[in-house]
Amino acid sequence: MTKRFPEKYKYCPHCGDRLEMRERHGYLRPSCPSCNYVYFKEPKVGVGVLITRSSEQGMRELLLIKRAVPPEQGKWCLPAGFVDGYEDPEQTAIREVAEETGLRVTLGELISVSHNPDVAISGKGASIFILYHARSYSGQLAAADDALEAKFFSINRLPEMAFDSTAIAVAYIQSNSNKFT
Ligand SMILES: [Zn+2]
Repeated sequence: MTKRFPEKYKYCPHCGDRLEMRERHGYLRPSCPSCNYVYFKEPKVGVGVLITRSSEQGMRELLLIKRAVPPEQGKWCLPAGFVDGYEDPEQTAIREVAEETGLRVTLGELISVSHNPDVAISGKGASIFILYHARSYSGQLAAADDALEAKFFSINRLPEMAFDSTAIAVAYIQSNSNKFT
């Protein structure tokens, strides 16, 4: 049986005719009978940044923001956002950190690229999530935009988190302690 994912689009964006579900490249995809346009579902890409510091007691601390908007409003997550269609993901990372925390970051290594199939089907959030490590940062913490607060937490005492992606960040810190001096 050909795979079919839920699609909300009814009309062709080129000619306005009604789309029909037709098999194209192994899936049933909304297709235009008049002009042959086929709707290919594109992934939504999110980018997050891991920013840490050492507390006065030598504890590793992770910068989180409290979400001002759904989904998971009021819970905490990494500074993160969607890649704009015209943007390099590294630009997204730097821009989102500046918008949500007021800090300027210099990016270090790419930590991971992860795929969430449930989000891909629901369409709610980023199905592909790119996580960067911030090599350094400067400036004063000042939450804004999608963030109600921006705060460093000890990785042993994290608040209620919004997304699984934060677990990737914490695991990375714990298994790469040599990179965090
Ligand atoms: Zn059409």
